[in-house]
Parts: sequence; C-alpha cells; structure tokens
Amino acid sequence: MGAREKIAFLNGLLEGLDPKGEAEKKIYTGIVDALNALADEIDDHAEVLDEQQEFLEDLSEYCEQLEEDMSSLEGDMDDMDDLMDDETEGIFDSQECPECGHVFFFRSEARMEDGSLQCPECGFMIHD
Ligand SMILES: [Zn+2]
Repeated sequence: MGAREKIAFLNGLLEGLDPKGEAEKKIYTGIVDALNALADEIDDHAEVLDEQQEFLEDLSEYCEQLEEDMSSLEGDMDDMDDLMDDETEGIFDSQECPECGHVFFFRSEARMEDGSLQCPECGFMIHD
C-alpha cells in the first residue's frame, strides 16, 4: 500500500470513528490534511526526481555517444598512425660511423650539401 492509500485508509477510519467533539474532529482533519500535504510534497519530489532521472539518462546517453566518438576517433588515429608509418618508411637511412662505430638513423635531408653526414655520437663528419 502506498502512502496515499494509507492516508485515504486512515481518513476512512477516522470518518468511521465519527468523533463527537469539535476539537477531536479538528485534530483528525488536521492530521489527514498534514499527511496529504506530505504526500503532495513527496509527489513533487518524485517529479523532480523523475526529471533528474531523465537528465541523468540523457547524460549517460551523451557519455555513451562520447565514448563511441572517442573510440572511433581512436580508430582514426590508429589509421593515421598506420599512414604515418607507411609514409615514414624508407625515408630514414642507417649509417655506421667509421670513427666510433655508432649506428644511427638519419633523414636524407640531414646530409650536408656535399653529401657528408655528421655522427650524432662523436661529431665525426662521414663522407661517402
Ligand atoms: Zn661517430
């Protein structure tokens, strides 16, 4: 039984009691009124709660959407990484320094105009 049914039930009981005195009637009516007012307030709160529930559902839907967007974005990023890997492949060359034996990778544009390379380890100028 919900609160409202209980109040209605109580109201019925009180009416059945048929209080004789005017003061008793007032008290009983007052109690039922107070209970009804409480039930109204609870209903109002329930309404607010419903609205908040709806808002939360919207929010969680929005978050899910955001998550989907993020994962698809991550997928795009992965694709982009793959693309970058493809693009950078072959651009780097490796060279072993004849001075210190350090093996390093370099971009073709790192070469000097005369085609020489500087070892990043010891600074030796390598001429092919
Ligand atoms: Zn070197």
